[in-house]
Amino acid sequence: MRWVDRGPEPDGVAGYARQFTQGWVDYFRHQRGGRPTDSFWREFRAALGLRSDGLCWYCERLCQAASEVGGRSATVDHFRPRSQFPELAYEWTNWIFSCYRCNSENKMDKWPALGYVDPGAGDERERPELYFDYDPLTGEIVPHPGLADNDRRKAEGTIADLGLNKIDVLFYRLDWTRRFVEDLRALPADARTDFVDYAWGRRLSSLGQRGCWWRRCGRPGRFSR
Ligand SMILES: [Zn+2]
Repeated sequence: MRWVDRGPEPDGVAGYARQFTQGWVDYFRHQRGGRPTDSFWREFRAALGLRSDGLCWYCERLCQAASEVGGRSATVDHFRPRSQFPELAYEWTNWIFSCYRCNSENKMDKWPALGYVDPGAGDERERPELYFDYDPLTGEIVPHPGLADNDRRKAEGTIADLGLNKIDVLFYRLDWTRRFVEDLRALPADARTDFVDYAWGRRLSSLGQRGCWWRRCGRPGRFSR
């Protein structure tokens, strides 16, 4: 996971918010009326996906076309779930471009007391790069060393509830690491740092892992608190 800049709120969100938020608040906050059926956040799914070149903001794997069903099809996740935060149903900063698996099979309606690490965090001090590191030997995403207790628990909860170390994600990361290291080793030593910089600048897959390698290649300042 790494930070994604979701960009400014597009035209149209505020209008939907004015029209439809109250229905969600009535249903979940006051147990009034039936469950709303609107889902106009889907109109902004493509705009959100463009910000990460189609990668799920949580697991960083490529989402399939929205018309696909299940698995890694593209969805819009409500970072703070509608059932507990109905006021945020049409809040632009609460929408995350997510694969179906992360959204609807792993995270679902969960919201722990400490919350989750937000890949679209508006606050620089809350960005995922500060919470996570990667173990290149196992492919695991791990809490960043040196986190305070609550931050470490939040990182651990995010990893567990989103299934970020499930076997299919591990294989994906290990394969990426293998290819990355092969490319790196093929270069003369004095060109490797430039290669990592180049890879960092390209918005392809496994962005979070690339940040980890960036650090390992001697750029510790960029993500330190
Ligand atoms: Zn995902």
